Amino acid sequence: MQYTVASAMDLLPRGRFAPTPSGALHVGSARTALASALSAWSAGGRWVLRVEDLDAVRAAPGATAAMLDDLRWLGLDWDEGPGVGGPSAPYAQRERAPLYAATLDWLRARGLVYPCACSRRDIELASQAPHGAEPVYPGTCRDLAPDAVVARARSLGRGVSWRFRTDPEAPPVVVRDLLRGVSSQQVHREVGDFVVMRADGVASYQLAVVVDDVAMDITEVVRGDDLLASTPRQVLLYEALGAAPPAWAHLPLVLGGDGERLAKRSGSMGIAALRERGVSAGWLRGWLLESLGARDQGALRASAEGFSLAAVDASPVVWRAPG
Ligand code: GLU
Repeated sequence: MQYTVASAMDLLPRGRFAPTPSGALHVGSARTALASALSAWSAGGRWVLRVEDLDAVRAAPGATAAMLDDLRWLGLDWDEGPGVGGPSAPYAQRERAPLYAATLDWLRARGLVYPCACSRRDIELASQAPHGAEPVYPGTCRDLAPDAVVARARSLGRGVSWRFRTDPEAPPVVVRDLLRGVSSQQVHREVGDFVVMRADGVASYQLAVVVDDVAMDITEVVRGDDLLASTPRQVLLYEALGAAPPAWAHLPLVLGGDGERLAKRSGSMGIAALRERGVSAGWLRGWLLESLGARDQGALRASAEGFSLAAVDASPVVWRAPG
């Protein structure tokens, strides 16, 4: 009988920050980045940076380089990622498309996904969702013969997207979040069968994030709480792939002084804009650390000592500019 003995390295936590380079890094995303890094480092683990640049429309040219620059300026040096490399390279999603395609094939071979010819407009019309609400997919293509769906899409001049088949009879997916506590969602009823590969052949966020977090051995996902509603879908993908989900921690937003969400005002609250206004990296680090209940102990890796996500206040934080 042979046993595989995990090395001490295998047992250490692996956290990650996975930003979409759609604009300048702002105070809210810097706070998320810092929280994920501190949590991994506090336990002697590694912090991975992955660039989620799948969406060509949203990824602004030069945005990735500017974002990496802002992180470095803050003193947030990743252990693995762009420019540094590591065992899970490449660390930009656009370079990982073959892995998503192979995963889709794997899911197809098991009947876990099916092709769909519906456009966004078709779904809005069929689902009668209230204006502005994300419509629940009504299952239009779910029980059709795949070949017929492909033929229909072709006749309409479209490709097919691929949807993950959710189970109407399954119990709700329960998510235990380090900050937000327990929540649950019956994905079939509340979201419907969701897209894993878009009609343009690009993997959806839901698929890519899970495939990458599994491939990169991520054990802890710290991110903004706007993504909490995506987590049950991701749990279903972990189950389908036979992988263990990570620990989740969804951080509250950072609000502007007027109570508005910071992400929407990233121009004025962007790290680059703060730098230009003369805000020092040390001051901003201090503010971010304090907002996370961490003690500033000089270098960020030193400040990670004793840090615990469980001790972070789960209510939104209000940004206070210096001076
Ligand atoms: N790429 C996502 C974003 O920038 C975050 C993905 C994640 O952390 O799961 O909003």
